[in-house]
Amino acid sequence: MSQLKIAVICIGDELLKGFTVNTNLTDIGSELLQLGLIINNASVIPDTTEMIQNSTTNMVDSGMDVIILTGGLGPTVDDLTKETIAELFKLKLIMSEKVVATLKLYWNNRNRSMPEAVLDQALIPEGAEILPNDVGTAPGLLIHASDHHPRLPAIILLPGPPSEMNPMFKNYVIPYLSTLKGYDKLFTNTIYTTGLPESIIEEKTLPLIKNSIFSIAYCASPEAVKVYISSSDRDQLNSKTDELRERLGEFALHQGITDSIQAVVNYCKQHDLTLSVAESCTGGLIAAAITDIPGASQIFKGGVVSYSNEWKNQILHVSEETINKFGAVSYECAEEMVTNLCNYYKTDLGISITGIAGPAGGTPEKPVGLIYIGAKLNDKIVIKQFNLSGDRNRVRQRTVYAAANLLKTLFL
Ligand code: ATP
Repeated sequence: MSQLKIAVICIGDELLKGFTVNTNLTDIGSELLQLGLIINNASVIPDTTEMIQNSTTNMVDSGMDVIILTGGLGPTVDDLTKETIAELFKLKLIMSEKVVATLKLYWNNRNRSMPEAVLDQALIPEGAEILPNDVGTAPGLLIHASDHHPRLPAIILLPGPPSEMNPMFKNYVIPYLSTLKGYDKLFTNTIYTTGLPESIIEEKTLPLIKNSIFSIAYCASPEAVKVYISSSDRDQLNSKTDELRERLGEFALHQGITDSIQAVVNYCKQHDLTLSVAESCTGGLIAAAITDIPGASQIFKGGVVSYSNEWKNQILHVSEETINKFGAVSYECAEEMVTNLCNYYKTDLGISITGIAGPAGGTPEKPVGLIYIGAKLNDKIVIKQFNLSGDRNRVRQRTVYAAANLLKTLFL
């Protein structure tokens, strides 16, 4: 058996001009992965008849079983996908009374008269199955492989807006793809790890995978090093994933947790502990990451952005002597920040951050990327110096997760 060959063509000038991030491709890819399928080929093209025809023909010629096109299904003149595909495969466009009724209802419900141009959305290539649009007007279309030519693949047309494409894909395309039989599947599990570099994660895990039915890949980002394990046997994959988790020990995050901020919030909830943060160069990023998590109010008291020396002194009571003698970016300052934060604001856990994110402000003794992080859990306290590389944005992002990782070490 072979894998189902799936191609995705994303249509839209805005995707090529850098105005819009192509989330449709990643969303389709991650949905397919859960079904044991992977995208074989993908392209991003402008809104032109010529490119839609060329790209679709190339995918047909390269033996794809399913071709998914997103975008260009709307009622405006630059929406060409349906007409172009119908012309390419010599399919007549027929007015669907069912879609006309749905469109009328949509406009009636909004107390507006329906513009004539909208009726174009009810023109359907003969034989195509209509995929309902539960949140918009343009229906999706599924042209079954055998309906137009036995040698040709199934063609699926989906709307461009992610808010319409995503539910249509989940509710109608995934169930259709699940019915296709006679293909190999490839399942992938992900383990999120923190606290170790990618090379050490590889060193720990690769020997358990070598010469086996599994393949493994690694991807590092500021939040976590992700380990992807794949196999066509789902049961064996799950037990191998458990074995790898065991090998990674405390560095593997619990199932369902994808970064160390989530791990901290979870731990606080489970142990009924409160948390506060004192940030300097991260300017509130840690507080934002914590409050991104639903239910954070159960454990998070608040944060202080003490960017200036005055605020470090007046709000966090870091002594003037410490600032004058060691500087605001120092081990001593981070220690006083976290100790005073927890004492004055009465929380069980605290994080403090002081550092130089750059691009300016570095000196030979205190270069850009020098960060001191303090972490406190009741009477346990740890202060650590980090020398992080990257631009201002990356240093700040890496600091957020380094701080959560440091706090996590106190849980053991
Ligand atoms: P509409 O009825 O809104 O015109 P449509 O199916 O014709 O729908 P497009 O006009 O191609 O879709 O795209 C509409 C909007 O959807 C784009 O401006 C863009 O913001 C978003 N969009 C389109 N394609 C993608 C994509 N691949 N990833 C993320 N967003 C996209």
